[in-house]
Amino acid sequence: MHTPCRRACDWLVWAMHNSTAASAPLILVGAGHAHLLALRQWLDQGYTPPPGSILVNPDPAAWYSGMLPGLIAGRYHLDDCALPLDPLCTRLGLRLLQGQMTAFNADQKTLQLDSGLDLRGDIVSFNAGSQPAPIPTDDSLPLIPVKPFPAFIEQWQHWRSDTAARHISVIGGGAAAFEIALALAASLPESRLQLLCAGTLLPGHSPMVVKRARQWLQNQHIRLHEHCRVTRLQDGQLWHDDQCLGSADATILATGASAHPWQGKSGLSTDERGFIRIDPQLRSLSHPDVFASGDCASLPGSQKSGVYAVRQGPILAHNLKALLQGEPLHGYQPQPQALALLATGDGGALLSYGQWGAGGKVFGFWKDHLDQGFMQRQRLCNRNKT
Ligand SMILES: Cc1cc2nc3c(=O)[nH]c(=O)nc-3n(C[C@H](O)[C@H](O)[C@H](O)COP(=O)(O)OP(=O)(O)OC[C@H]3O[C@@H](n4cnc5c(N)ncnc54)[C@H](O)[C@@H]3O)c2cc1C
Repeated sequence: MHTPCRRACDWLVWAMHNSTAASAPLILVGAGHAHLLALRQWLDQGYTPPPGSILVNPDPAAWYSGMLPGLIAGRYHLDDCALPLDPLCTRLGLRLLQGQMTAFNADQKTLQLDSGLDLRGDIVSFNAGSQPAPIPTDDSLPLIPVKPFPAFIEQWQHWRSDTAARHISVIGGGAAAFEIALALAASLPESRLQLLCAGTLLPGHSPMVVKRARQWLQNQHIRLHEHCRVTRLQDGQLWHDDQCLGSADATILATGASAHPWQGKSGLSTDERGFIRIDPQLRSLSHPDVFASGDCASLPGSQKSGVYAVRQGPILAHNLKALLQGEPLHGYQPQPQALALLATGDGGALLSYGQWGAGGKVFGFWKDHLDQGFMQRQRLCNRNKT
């Protein structure tokens, strides 16, 4: 069987034996939502990127975060939530390099991969997402970030394989932390769960939604601690400064989006949180041959959510192609607000839109319909479930 890695193997060996960085006309870093949509759009348009173009991603598949809580709650299979990248890349003539970019030099447009490979791109586009804000730890108790998803899923599968009663603390107060806590409650009924938020639960959502969310947590016996910022893990305990918040068998890090460390060291213009500052054409403010989209980018009015990354996809598709062909670029205008559907672990969801809030199975059905529709549109062929 040809894996993406094996297919790229000859080229990789060649590149690693050359002292200079291997060059590519276009390098896409991260198979995030915007890149997936852009690639799919190119395929539909019959456009193929210049020969030698590359997609770098740590996994052979792109994971869809919107369905992760449904996976944990036992409502989806693994392959429902992941899109294999090889078929898409093959059809577009893109070289898929499975690996993690560890450093980027914006002035030279050179990338380093964890494999030791150096690359140089004429145009580089980042859609590498974000990571949960880290917490200092002495490693005395397991701290599992919800992203990257494969490692989190592996840990969850390990927990599910036995019936041990565990005390699990989920750290975070946003939509992802809320959904993950409820999904774990559905999946690991023998475990005790608590949710620790630095401020109030679900900041930015209406009081109506927050009230319903608190009720949901209570109904599922998840202890909610608001205004309880965990500042470190030490000696097997969770701490807020000098105040001990108790112990746990494991902690899950589902805190808000923080920037990958390489971004701040790249020479690219970044905002105060380390995200790549871009213009409405999705180009770096400091290096116009570098694009950034989705969570890793910083654009006034745009939010760190899949919804915004998805909307940037078609603009990115056009602009990368336009730059390669010397044509005018388009501008992206972020929508003022987005609908959120928060999975409640039972097949239902809470709807949140501005000041509006509601909950029930019908919203879960709607969420499933939207999520599955997205995946269906991105897939190139039907697969058998494993
Ligand atoms: C549990 C959970 C549920 C969520 N549910 C929703 C939801 O329902 N709706 C919503 O709008 N948002 C949701 N979000 C937020 C959403 O996941 C992010 O906002 C969204 O994924 C950002 O998309 P992106 O395109 O920027 O990148 P991502 O989709 O995060 O993809 C980034 C890709 O880049 C790769 N990558 C990362 N670093 C590197 C590197 N150094 N080198 C190469 N590749 C790299 C990653 O492996 C990944 O494939 C959820 C988040 C979580 C954690």
